[in-house]
Amino acid sequence: MKLVCAWCNIVMEQGDPDHVSHGMCFKCYGRLLQWEDTVDRTMPLVPAYGRDYQNVKQVADAWKADKDFLIADQDSPWYNKPANRSDLLAAKECTRVAIRYHSKKRVAILEVK
Ligand SMILES: [Zn+2]
Repeated sequence: MKLVCAWCNIVMEQGDPDHVSHGMCFKCYGRLLQWEDTVDRTMPLVPAYGRDYQNVKQVADAWKADKDFLIADQDSPWYNKPANRSDLLAAKECTRVAIRYHSKKRVAILEVK
């Protein structure tokens, strides 16, 4: 029996070509998980331009006022790029942000809306 990935057609296991079974390879599984993740994703941010906030209210006020933050997700193509609430709303990349404050020792979770 030959095992083939039903998504990308890569051969996962060599065998009798008359008996082909389909599965999902690790690469496609990873992509699927990533894709599912974007539906309810939290983007990590840090305050931009050396700013810092002392409490959640200050963070929330800055967020609502559309202040810039830096994308702290190293896997993101926008890593270390400035982004504010309007940018993330438009990009539809995430539903929540996790903003580090108080010398990056604490994290505030805010909704993107
Ligand atoms: Zn595959």
